[in-house]
Formats: sequence, C-alpha cells, structure tokens
Amino acid sequence: MSGSTGERIDAQGRGASGEELVIVSLYPRDMNIYGDRGNVLALTRRARAHGFAPRVVEVNPGDPFPEAVDIVIGGGGQDSGQGRVARDLAVRADEVRARAADGTPMLMVCGLYQLFGHRFITHTGEELAGIGVLDVETRGGSERMIGNIVLESAEFGEIIGYENHSGNTTLGPGSQPLGRVLQGAGNNPDSGFEGARSANVIGTYLHGSLLPKNPALSDFLIGEAARRRTGGFTPTAGVDETAMRARESAKRRPR
Ligand code: GLN
Repeated sequence: MSGSTGERIDAQGRGASGEELVIVSLYPRDMNIYGDRGNVLALTRRARAHGFAPRVVEVNPGDPFPEAVDIVIGGGGQDSGQGRVARDLAVRADEVRARAADGTPMLMVCGLYQLFGHRFITHTGEELAGIGVLDVETRGGSERMIGNIVLESAEFGEIIGYENHSGNTTLGPGSQPLGRVLQGAGNNPDSGFEGARSANVIGTYLHGSLLPKNPALSDFLIGEAARRRTGGFTPTAGVDETAMRARESAKRRPR
C-alpha cells in the first residue's frame, strides 16, 4: 500500500521488507526534556517508510541492553537526572564503547551528549564522569544558551532545532563538529560550531524534537543500521512534506 508521503506500510505498520530494526531508547525516564521522545517516534515512522519493522526497547538505569541493537537514541535532562544516569552509564561503559566502536549508529542529545564525552563539570563544580565515546568535554557556565538554532552541515544540509543549555562543550581531535552554526550558540559561544561526531555516533544540543524536522539525520541512522544488518540500504521513504513545512516555519522563527 502506498502512503501519500511515499511510505509503503502494510496493515500491521510494517514496511515492504519487514526486516526488524531494534532501536534502544536510552534512559527515557530521566532524559526526555523538550520532547526528546519525539526523536524515537520520528525515527520509528521513518524506519517503517524505509521498509523496516522497528522495535523500540526502553533502557532505564539497571535494565540490560537487548542482544541485538541497531540504533541507540538518548535525550537531555536536568543535572539531577544526569547524575543518576551517569552512575548507570559508568557500569555499562565498556558495552556502549564496544557497540560504538563496532559502528552502531547513535544519537545523543544535550544531557547525554555531555555524558558521552569525557566529563561534565557542572556550574557548581561537581564532576560527572562520561564514557568518552565522543572526544568532548563540557563545563557548566553561568549563561544559558537558549533559542532556535540553525546549522549548516556538508553531509546533512541545514539542521534545525532548539537549544537550551548552560554547558560549554569543547571538542578534541577525535571528534568533528556536526555542523557550523548559522544562527544560535552551539557548543559554546565562541566556537561557531555545534555538536560532535565520532564515526557513527552523533552528539548535539539540538532538541525540537530534532528528528521530526531533520529526516536526513533519521536516514543516516537508519542507513548505517541497515548496512550493518543487511550489507546494504535502499532508501524507499519519500520526501517528508510535513517535515519540510515544519523546517520552513521553524526557520522563520526569531532566535
Ligand atoms: N544540564 C545540561 C546543561 O544545561 C543539560 C541540559 C539539557 O539536557 N537540556 O548544560
């Protein structure tokens, strides 16, 4: 059956090939600020449009990862929630690092972006150890960076979102920025860049939610997951017209 946006979804919501895609939603209880859960919903919908049968597994502190993991998604939260998940993340650091080194695509937003780096030093001087999957480090500052933000990325085109953080993130040589800031602050007020990427792991401050407005990022995560699972990726999802309209209206909003 053909949908109006080029999706091919059968009555069970399954895509054309029906290949399973396991999406781990990391710490949804503690790290789900500014609708970051929308990333999981958008990714699931886009994966179906590409012909997969996505299955979402929520992993909260203490829960094991499923054996097969195709994509990992995590969001942001308050400093208190970050402390809770930092302790849990430390316990499973080796496993997450191994999965990242093996090419599992991951998207970490804001609070988890910081904890996927080496460390986050809060504005009160408390140090939360990160797992060092991204070569970044963050220091809490006195100024919050809040507002609509637009990036330019060679690989993904314009990336549109909303930032709200006081953490100032700096990148080491092992990570590349996700994009150049066209409007907004980004990693810190002086860098001119936003986010970080090491292999298939992306960290970013962009909420929004991010993925509903940026299908190119969903396609990257799904494409990398598909290549690892089946050896190839034939995109079948069409242009997401709703996302295109949301992008245009978000870009017209003032900072
Ligand atoms: N506590 C962090 C900061 O303000 C993360 C904020 C968030 O996840 N929204 O920098």
